[in-house]
Amino acid sequence: MAKIIKVRCNGAGKCVNEFTDKELEKYSRPTIVVRGQPKNTVPERLVIPCKHCTEGKVIITRKMIEEM
Ligand SMILES: [Zn+2]
Repeated sequence: MAKIIKVRCNGAGKCVNEFTDKELEKYSRPTIVVRGQPKNTVPERLVIPCKHCTEGKVIITRKMIEEM
């Protein structure tokens, strides 16, 4: 089962956005290969445009992703 994180945007509507772990992977930094081991680096903070309104942004911290 995919993990889902629910985060409200900071717009007036405070829309609830749902992101799966797969979706969040797309926002992670490009894969860096370290000693043959691919390593996906999650940025400290992701700012993603709201899916439901034009003004809001959704802010997801690395901590939130790690706690999914
Ligand atoms: Zn919104």
